[in-house]
Amino acid sequence: MRAWRLNLVVLVCLSACSTDWRGPAVLRSASGRRICAKHHVPLITVRGFEATSDTLVDPYEAWFQIAAPYPNHIPEYQSLQRDRDFSEPTMITYCPKCQHELDARWHEVDERMKARYRKRSNQTMKPTAPLRCNFSVFATTPCRGLSFSR
Ligand SMILES: [Zn+2]
Repeated sequence: MRAWRLNLVVLVCLSACSTDWRGPAVLRSASGRRICAKHHVPLITVRGFEATSDTLVDPYEAWFQIAAPYPNHIPEYQSLQRDRDFSEPTMITYCPKCQHELDARWHEVDERMKARYRKRSNQTMKPTAPLRCNFSVFATTPCRGLSFSR
């Protein structure tokens, strides 16, 4: 009963907190810097990588829902870390607070999903598919890249 109530609270919070960001994503400060419209902090631009043209980046649907309230997170087709699927050098502009909050929320959801998964099944289950989208700041990765060989 207690666990049920806790789940309900988590569910209500998740849906209540998942309001899509509306309005402009970026504002200009008095000095002309681009700032996050949600957090009012300057956007940062760093070297990163984006998906190669033969990589389909396919995030989980849940990730899109969680990302929706954060207008300036790192897009799913870019990564701060280079790997097989994200190997084209590029510059990434994002809000560190949007990214931090998105990472934290994704991490929570992922842990709950994993916990539920373990509770429900005594069978040997396949491990979660290896995820290729490996954003350096993500404790767990939000998406998978599918490479097509030519
Ligand atoms: Zn932000």
